Amino acid sequence: MPSVISTDVLIVGAGVAGLWLNARLRRQGFSTVLVESATLGGGQSVKSQGIIHGGAKYALHGALTGASEAIADMPRRWREALAGDGELDLSGVRLLSEAHYLWSPGTLAGNLTSFFASKAVRGRVDQVKGDQLPPALQDKRFKGKVYRLAELVIDVPSLIQRLADLAGDGLLAGQHIEPLLEDGLLVGLKVDAREIRAQRIVISAGAGTATLLEALGLSQPAMQRRPLHMIIAKGPGLKPLYAHCLGGGTKPRLTITTHPAADGQWVWYLGGDIAEAEGVAREPAEQIATAQKELAQLLPWIDLDTVQWATLRVDRAEPLQTGLTRPDNAFLAEQGRLLVGWPTKLALAPDFADRVISALQRDGIQPGHSAPLPELPKPPMGIPAWEQLLP
Ligand SMILES: Cc1cc2nc3c(=O)[nH]c(=O)nc-3n(C[C@H](O)[C@H](O)[C@H](O)COP(=O)(O)OP(=O)(O)OC[C@H]3O[C@@H](n4cnc5c(N)ncnc54)[C@H](O)[C@@H]3O)c2cc1C
Repeated sequence: MPSVISTDVLIVGAGVAGLWLNARLRRQGFSTVLVESATLGGGQSVKSQGIIHGGAKYALHGALTGASEAIADMPRRWREALAGDGELDLSGVRLLSEAHYLWSPGTLAGNLTSFFASKAVRGRVDQVKGDQLPPALQDKRFKGKVYRLAELVIDVPSLIQRLADLAGDGLLAGQHIEPLLEDGLLVGLKVDAREIRAQRIVISAGAGTATLLEALGLSQPAMQRRPLHMIIAKGPGLKPLYAHCLGGGTKPRLTITTHPAADGQWVWYLGGDIAEAEGVAREPAEQIATAQKELAQLLPWIDLDTVQWATLRVDRAEPLQTGLTRPDNAFLAEQGRLLVGWPTKLALAPDFADRVISALQRDGIQPGHSAPLPELPKPPMGIPAWEQLLP
């Protein structure tokens, strides 16, 4: 029979939210165990585009509300962590781009032009030209306007690796989870029949949260899944590009990020409007043909002849949206010792951790004196989709 474990905080789900929280808590002296049923970061996190949003994209909705949103501060917090002097030491995590760009293939609608010139975005959105343009847009045929956003793009696999290193001996591969009750109250979880008692239990299981809550006999907080149908292109002629391409609507027509493949080639990962509703309804071959047409029209100088293509279906997991849910903050709900939430964005993992830590502080939860952990079975690392689909 496996030993009984006692820990300060038991976390379930090792995507960016669980891993970041785990590293913050350990740095503050808390003992933690982080349970993962599949791979580290392999849910949404490693499938994300790695953009550390500061909220500038919401300029498109005309809904940027400024510093009151947690997201506005995220680029600074990540930048400090990446430099090794922030709330976590993320030195060694690969920065893919110092900036993300907004690119309008035609002339900008008048309201956007004045918005970009307004005080609200000054210093966060600056127009760039000539050799300041991203390499993939440096062609004499390029027409349009490009704005540099003060937002980073990070290499998520190297982030997950670093956060896994910071997790020390606290990672546990576990499949079957049941509640551990005492006098009808939740005091921990049984993970593959091993009892783990904890002062607090945090569920950060992404799309797995609803099923997990059901296993614990709970139906709240309710979650929603937002399906996406992303496109992956890999080829020797692709140059780095990190940009939202504006269309006529309030969502970017295309969001392109560029990622290093293990064989040294670049991968373009395409999301934005193309990956949403209509894109989700398309069959993979149709989705690839749509992307090829878009790129040929927008960037005719890019050689797509030797490019290999694939698509990836993946759901974003979020709290069920209500009028009360603000999209630019992490979400956390509490019920006794149990805390459940979603960061809603990779960029907001620090905000998710803040919310859990404030709840612990409010309740006077202090680091206890837990016995050293026994050797635990470790979950494997998540693999980027392009390594699986276009090896
Ligand atoms: C295509 C795409 C692009 C995106 N791009 C961006 C972007 O550029 N910038 C940005 O800020 N955000 C982006 N996002 C959103 C971002 O990826 C997510 O908000 C974030 O990764 C969620 O992190 P998480 O830790 O909550 O979830 P996940 O990364 O999904 O992690 C949850 C973990 O819980 C585990 N789990 C599930 N059930 C159980 C169980 N019963 N027991 C144990 N473990 C369990 C899963 O295996 C998984 O590892 C994107 C999302 C998608 C899908």
